[in-house]
Amino acid sequence: MIDLRSMLPDEIEALTAELGEPKFRAKQLFSWLQSGVTSFDGMTNIPKSLREKLSAVGYIANAEIEQKFESQLDGTVKFLFRMNDGMNIESVLMKYRHGYSICISTQVGCRMGCSFCASTVNGLDRSLTASEMLAQIMSAQNSCGVRISNIVLMGMGEPFDNYDNVLRFLELVSHPDGLNIGMRHISLSTCGRVDGIRRMMNEKLQLTLSVSLHAPNDRIRTAIMPINKKWNVDTLLTACRDYIDATGRRISFEYAMIKGVNDTDECAHELANKLRGMLCHVNLIPANEIRENDYVRSDASRLCRFKSILEQYGVTTTVRRTLGSDISASCGQLRQKYGNK
Ligand code: SAH
Repeated sequence: MIDLRSMLPDEIEALTAELGEPKFRAKQLFSWLQSGVTSFDGMTNIPKSLREKLSAVGYIANAEIEQKFESQLDGTVKFLFRMNDGMNIESVLMKYRHGYSICISTQVGCRMGCSFCASTVNGLDRSLTASEMLAQIMSAQNSCGVRISNIVLMGMGEPFDNYDNVLRFLELVSHPDGLNIGMRHISLSTCGRVDGIRRMMNEKLQLTLSVSLHAPNDRIRTAIMPINKKWNVDTLLTACRDYIDATGRRISFEYAMIKGVNDTDECAHELANKLRGMLCHVNLIPANEIRENDYVRSDASRLCRFKSILEQYGVTTTVRRTLGSDISASCGQLRQKYGNK
């Protein structure tokens, strides 16, 4: 069966031509597939005969809501979705002053092995298709009756471990006849897959690249992130500088503050020395304490102090708010709790 929702306009045109349909049907079909309908019956201006032909050769990927939790603290909504093959993934809808933002998953599980992360505990089940990434957004929009304006690829999975599908997703989601969410409203986060960063810089996209750095040197980073054995801090930061040169875009560094691991003054000075002068921004995140390990988050005062050291070197830094802490909103947490289907 053909994964219709993952198809680009020219691929749909080829398909409708093959089915003996006039050209304008392709545009109608593409719009329907990108609109969030979950069945062929919903495509009201497509003749029944074509709908029947389509359902014989293809399917519409959907993200069915298995569970939905709404934070009483800040309105954050956490979804546990069931994909067509029964696999579970998570997404988080967040409300900001400027609108709604969704954090979506790119894989079922993850094989990157970061020691602090709940998504990777049971390894990788499979990568998601472009349509399954889109379906998370469509389902959340339909369920909450809102229009989502920003996307972060920061849920379960490593986007650069699923490069081609992620790129296809980006092309579809930003298409004017689709959800039409512009690249400037999209962030993609990587654990530091330098191969992906280097590939991505040639696409010259206007999205924001986030890099999960979490440590200022190889000793600490290798201890918490296995990817650092393949591409160490220097190699990673060189790739980041090249990315900035190639795209003119600022990079965001994610830094989860873990008590006694990566949060000392010394770490801050070392980090600042490596990032100074770079077109970048640091997001300090109080580490989420998960059941799978014993890491403890740094205190608010430590985050403040760390930020002030970075800023002494001219490295702009934000301390991130925690959203949805009452509903296990951080990715991977809910699925673990739910039994990791
Ligand atoms: N694989 C990509 C996308 C996942 S994004 C990446 O690693 O960037 C999820 C973000 O949350 C990453 O920055 C990840 O390092 C971070 N994260 C994972 N577990 C965390 C935890 N327990 N506390 C704080 N941040 C965490």
